[in-house]
Amino acid sequence: MASTESKPVTNFIRNIIDKDLQSGKHDIVVTRFPPEPNGYLHIGHAKSICLNFGIARDYNGRCHLRFDDTNPAKEEIEYIESIKKDVRWLGFDWGDHLYFASDYFDRLYEYAVKLIKKDKAYVCSLSTEEIRAYRGTLTEPGKESPYRKRSIDENLDLFEKMKNGEFKEGEHVLRAKIDMASPNLNMRDPVLYRILHVEHHRTGDTWNLYPLYDFTHCISDALEGITHSICTLEFEDHRPLYDWVLDQVETPCHPQQIEFARLNLSYTLMSKRKLAELIRKKIVSGWDDPRMPTITGIRRRGYTPSSIRTFADRIGVAKRDSMVDIALLEHCIREELNQNALRFMAVLDPVKVVITNYPEDQEEDLDAINNPEDLSQGKRKVPFGKEIYIERNDFREDPPKKFYRLSPGREVRLRYAYFITCSNVIKDENTGEIKEIHCTYDPETKGGDAPDGRKVKGTLHWVSVKRGLPATVRLYDHLFTIADLSEIPKDKDYMDFVNPNSLTELTKCCIEPGLKNAHVGDRFQFERQGYFSVDPDSEESDHLIFNRIVSLRDTWAKIEKNMKK
Ligand code: ATP
Ligand code: MG
Repeated sequence: MASTESKPVTNFIRNIIDKDLQSGKHDIVVTRFPPEPNGYLHIGHAKSICLNFGIARDYNGRCHLRFDDTNPAKEEIEYIESIKKDVRWLGFDWGDHLYFASDYFDRLYEYAVKLIKKDKAYVCSLSTEEIRAYRGTLTEPGKESPYRKRSIDENLDLFEKMKNGEFKEGEHVLRAKIDMASPNLNMRDPVLYRILHVEHHRTGDTWNLYPLYDFTHCISDALEGITHSICTLEFEDHRPLYDWVLDQVETPCHPQQIEFARLNLSYTLMSKRKLAELIRKKIVSGWDDPRMPTITGIRRRGYTPSSIRTFADRIGVAKRDSMVDIALLEHCIREELNQNALRFMAVLDPVKVVITNYPEDQEEDLDAINNPEDLSQGKRKVPFGKEIYIERNDFREDPPKKFYRLSPGREVRLRYAYFITCSNVIKDENTGEIKEIHCTYDPETKGGDAPDGRKVKGTLHWVSVKRGLPATVRLYDHLFTIADLSEIPKDKDYMDFVNPNSLTELTKCCIEPGLKNAHVGDRFQFERQGYFSVDPDSEESDHLIFNRIVSLRDTWAKIEKNMKK
C-alpha cells in the first residue's frame, strides 16, 4: 500500500460497531455494498465501497457485494461486470459473498404471503395517481384505500393471480397495511409489489410482479446476516419501514440501518441518470471519459486506487451533508505521485530553439534525476543537441515584470543542460509567428550550474528536436462551470453549465525518448506540467497519447494553509 495511506480514522459508525462488539450484540461484523446495476459507479459510490469494505477489513468481518436488481427494465449485464471490476480495482474483495436481490424473489414472495396472512398487507386496486392522491402530504394525513378492508382470502387469491400473470401492469399492487395517518409518508401503506411484464436478466420471465426496494432491501440484509446496513441519509425516513418489515416478517436477524452523508464533490455531478445523459448528448465520449466522475473515468484519467482510498479516509464519514472540494481529490493523487512518479521532460506547445554556437553534428547524453523525492529511483540520460524545443510560452519578446523565463538578451537555465542566452528571433514573414529562437550556450555551465557562481532566475524544460518523440497530450478542466450543482437556478438546467473548455487536445507535443516504451496506464510527472498517464487510445495510435491527471499547482495545500491561519 502507498505510503500516503492513513490508518483507519474512527467515525460514528465505527463507534457503534465497537460498542456492539463490546456488548456482545455481535461477534462478527457483516456489511454490504448494494449497487443497483443501472449505470457505472462514480466517486460517491467509491466512498460507500471504502466505508463498507474498509470496516469489514479492519474488523476482520466481511462485506457482501449485492446487486439490488429489482428493477428489471433498467438493468444490464454490462453494468454488473463494470461494478465488479471497479470494486476490485479499488482493492476490495467480496470473496464468496456475491449476491443478487433477485436470488431472494421466492423468499420475498413467501414473506409477502406471510404479511397478507397476518393482515399486514393487502392488494390495492387504485391507480398510481389515486394512490398518490390518497397519500396526503406532510401537513395532511392520507386517506385509506377502499381496498384496505379486503379479506385475507381475497388478498391471497389476488396476489397469487398477480404472480401468475393474470392482470395487466398497474391493475393491482400489494401494499403494507400500516398507518395512513403516520407523520412519516413512507409508513402510509407503502407499495411492496408491482406488476411488471418484463423479463429479468437473471430470472427470465418467471415473475410477473417485482418487489420494491423498501421491501427487498431489509429482507435481503436479514437473509444474509448483515449486522450493520450502512446507507446514505436519504434513507433515514425509510428506517421505520425497514424495521417494521423485519419485525412483521420475523426474519432470523434484524440488521441495524445506519445513515451517513453522501459525498458531494464540487464541480461534479453524481447522478447516474444525468451522467448517462452526458454520454447520450455526446458531451463526453463514454462512461470512461477521463472527465467523468465514474470510477472507470477516474481510472482512465490515471488516478490510482490508493489515492481514492486515501481520499475516502480524508473526507471521513459524517451525519450531515456537505460539499467536498475537488481540490482535495486532486491533492491525494498529487501527493502520492510526487513520491513515486518518474520525472520526464515533455514540451506540450513547442517552439524551436537553435543554439548557434553548439557544434553542428554534436550530441550529448546528459544526466537527469528520475525522482528528486526518491533518489533511489536513479538517473537517466537525456539527449541534447543543437536544436531543441521549449514551450512557446516560456519565451516573451517583450517580457512583463516578473517574467523570468527566456527573452531577448536574457540568460536562463535549461534543466540538466546548460545556460543559454537569447540572441535573435526568426518570425514568419506573413503571420509574425515566432518560428525559431536563436541562442548561444555557455559550455562551462554543463549540468546546469555556472562555475563562476552566477545565477539565473528561470529554468526551462526542453526536448531534443532530433531525438524527441511526437505525442498527444489531453488537458482537462472541470466538466461544469459551477461549483455547487445543487445551486442551479430553477429556470436553468445543469446542461447550461457544461464547461465548453473541459478538454484541450495538444497534438504537436514532443517528449523525451526515454518514454518510448511507456505502457498504457503508466504515470509520470512531466516537469513543470503536472502528472500524466498513458491513455488506452495510444494502442491504436502511432504515438503516445497522455492524459493530464492533475497539474502541479496544489490548490488544496493552499486551502489547508489558510484554514490553519
Ligand atoms: P445515483 O443517485 O447516482 O443513481 P444511487 O444511490 O441510485 O446513485 P445505488 O446503486 O443505489 O446508486 O448506490 C449503491 C450504494 O452507493 C448505496 O448504498 C448508496 O447509498 C451509495 N451511494 C450512492 N451515491 C453515493 C454518494 N454520492 N456518496 C456516498 N454513497 C453513495
Ligand atoms: Mg439507489
